[in-house]
Amino acid sequence: MSHIFPRHTKSAPPVAVSGAGCYLTDASGKQYLDASGGAAVSCLGHGDRTIIDAIKNQLDTLAYAHTGFFTSEPAEKLADLLVEHAPGDLDRVYLVSGGSEAMEAALKLARQYHYERGDMNRGRIIARKQSYHGNTLGALATGGNEWRRAQFAPLLMDVSHIDPCYEYRLRREGESLEDYGLRAANLLEEELQRVGPETVMAFVAEPVVGATAGALTAAPGYFKRIREICDRHGILLILDEVMCGMGRTGALFACTQEDVVPDILAIAKGLGAGYQPIGAMLCTSAVYDTIADGSGFFQHGHTYLGHPTAAAGAHAVVSALLDRNLIPRVTVQGDKLRRALQARFGQHANIGDIRGKGLFMGLELVEDRDTKAPYDPKRGLAGKIKKLAFENGLICYPMSGTIDGKSGDHVLLAPPFIIEDRQIDELVDKLDRSIEQALA
Ligand code: PLP
Repeated sequence: MSHIFPRHTKSAPPVAVSGAGCYLTDASGKQYLDASGGAAVSCLGHGDRTIIDAIKNQLDTLAYAHTGFFTSEPAEKLADLLVEHAPGDLDRVYLVSGGSEAMEAALKLARQYHYERGDMNRGRIIARKQSYHGNTLGALATGGNEWRRAQFAPLLMDVSHIDPCYEYRLRREGESLEDYGLRAANLLEEELQRVGPETVMAFVAEPVVGATAGALTAAPGYFKRIREICDRHGILLILDEVMCGMGRTGALFACTQEDVVPDILAIAKGLGAGYQPIGAMLCTSAVYDTIADGSGFFQHGHTYLGHPTAAAGAHAVVSALLDRNLIPRVTVQGDKLRRALQARFGQHANIGDIRGKGLFMGLELVEDRDTKAPYDPKRGLAGKIKKLAFENGLICYPMSGTIDGKSGDHVLLAPPFIIEDRQIDELVDKLDRSIEQALA
């Protein structure tokens, strides 16, 4: 009997024993094409020698030093590299161990920012339906995914959830994409008027929504309008790039594709590429200085902050992304993946939408393409696809739809950036077979 808590099944899953490139192998010798990089983590693929060596070298030098006493060379180098490439004046970096920690830090930093300004009334967050921002209680309260939240109510913070920017479902007949983007962003203004802008500390969103919505991209102008609304009301903009950041959409920071600079930005997953558990929160000097000039420091901390070994691994990952020109490759291979998905599923009776950016693609399943009616959630389609794909040697990321019960199940794809053309073909073949088996 395994003593480990199984994640999604009652019984223990197969034992993973090795990884090479885009493939993982289990203890029986079965190979799996990792078409979702786990959960959009393994951007470099598995078994990358450069990253492994960087981590080993760091372990030989200094594995750990507590940030209550020291900073370390790898943490400093990683922060410098991130700031060099981050947009605007995002020039302070807080290194944590993963995405939920990065989001939790972002939420607390926003709260402390308003506190330092003497504004004690701003306790509320506005986020979006069908979002996921992590599993710790603050991040969970922020996420707009009802089934994840249900067991843990009442959650820790006051959060309102507005509709996401969801062209496929929410754009009106005859409305231009630009007009829809503005209308979707204006929902933030409406919600602010409803709850009182003086009670709100931050608006939180993913530039491209990942796990809970299957690579939902924003309409043009959406985030620029969001930025304007936040500025007008003194509300901080927190962008969560835990899944979509680090090159996944074809830019190191996905917000640069929207031409906005948030006040606080969270990254993780691809930052460690699976080689080390690491995340980061970046903030602008304006946010940082408000705290530095107030209490003096951010009232937050974890034992493994700024972990030297994790930082050395992440520095090697970001350097590899940049030095090997992998981010432009994301756009090239992403276009090929999109075309292959369109060719195979574009006319499929039960696939209503194929969307995404770079190597971050989603397919939304519908019972009826014309009415866009989703499948009955009781059918458990997403779970079936995941299980069948796994049996067929494909790791992908299906999830059930949620937005007020009106959106379809979807499949998220986020393969390593090194994916070859023949592996794109293999991915599409295996996914096709798995979807047909699940629908049968
Ligand atoms: N934010 C987003 C957008 C995510 O997709 C995730 C994880 O899937 C998280 C935060 C939480 O990250 P972690 O699982 O590393 O705690």
